[in-house]
Amino acid sequence: MILMNDFTKEPPQLRDQILQAIGRVLNSGWYVLGKECETFEQAWATYCGADYAIGVGNGLDAIEIALRAKGVGPGDEVITTPMTAFATVLAVLRAGATPVLADIDPQTALLSMDSAARCLSRRTKAVVLVHLYGQIRNMAEWQSFCRENRLALIEDCAQAHGATDGKTMAGAFGDAAAFSFYPTKNLGTVGDGGMVLTNDAELADRSRQLRNYGQSVRYEHPVLGLNSRLDEIHAAILSARLGWLEQFNNRRREIAAYYSANIRHSAVTALAPPQLSESHVFHLYVVRCANRQALIEHLHERQVQALIHYPIPVHRQASCFAIARDPSGLPHADEHARTCLSLPCHPLLSNAQVAMIAEAVNSFGH
Ligand SMILES: *Cc1c(COP(=O)(O)O)cnc(C)c1O
Repeated sequence: MILMNDFTKEPPQLRDQILQAIGRVLNSGWYVLGKECETFEQAWATYCGADYAIGVGNGLDAIEIALRAKGVGPGDEVITTPMTAFATVLAVLRAGATPVLADIDPQTALLSMDSAARCLSRRTKAVVLVHLYGQIRNMAEWQSFCRENRLALIEDCAQAHGATDGKTMAGAFGDAAAFSFYPTKNLGTVGDGGMVLTNDAELADRSRQLRNYGQSVRYEHPVLGLNSRLDEIHAAILSARLGWLEQFNNRRREIAAYYSANIRHSAVTALAPPQLSESHVFHLYVVRCANRQALIEHLHERQVQALIHYPIPVHRQASCFAIARDPSGLPHADEHARTCLSLPCHPLLSNAQVAMIAEAVNSFGH
């Protein structure tokens, strides 16, 4: 079976670097909030072109901490998308704010600006913009939308490590950004990890406080925070893996280009191509098919795993029925949830496997 992700296929050189990183942490005898975390924070800030990076426990916490550090909380509305990992909206709720769900653009599955505009109210304080599947788009337009409506722009970069418009990297466009280093992400560790990124010194200080029980100086707690720290062992592993990110992202782009050129089927449609090749890091390669279940079964017969991101949009989750949304409804999110399908595009696929996957799609219904 060709899997969506297969970490056992990672290069032996990378494995060695990870083992060395783990050894270094064990030998240091220091496991939480130490040199490895600082080193990786610095490396990640530099890579993304931002001033401050704050290592946290996971991507969910990174979004919550970014919102709270920006002063977004109870009584504030936050516009975001229902077509995302559940964590995006859960983080808004955990920050005590009120999510308002806007529809997506059907060509890209990204947040629609027209729909976001219909969701504005006196209480809107922020947009959480999700760079879904690894794509950044129209960032200048989102920056002006937020500026004109006096909203904070928080980027959910959990799927977009390294996406860039050629000048600015994902995570450096907004007031703050949140990253996840969950194993399957473009940059992932062997467990949970996350990061808040910002150019705002005060927001950075508040994020550092919030990740560590709201502690300012030792044993003083002016605010109520979380326990959400990036462990030394994960920071060390991430420093090693960062050296591979560009190469892995380029490989993902190569696989995506092959699919776009070679998948030819009247019942299978691709999403809009990226604005620039570097503006998409293909965390996922997603197609649409009205007869999705039959396609999944066909692919399984051909030994190809395919997954759905995401089958149930947030507004269809039992815990979220009451969440406010675009008064015109969320028809594009519903339609996407019914038809979208992700094909394997992880960087360790061989050319032969990539060709097999495209062939498997093309032979659907023949
Ligand atoms: C993975 C993901 C998250 C959550 O990250 P965790 O580290 O799993 O908490 C948030 N948003 C998006 C878009 C994601 O893909």
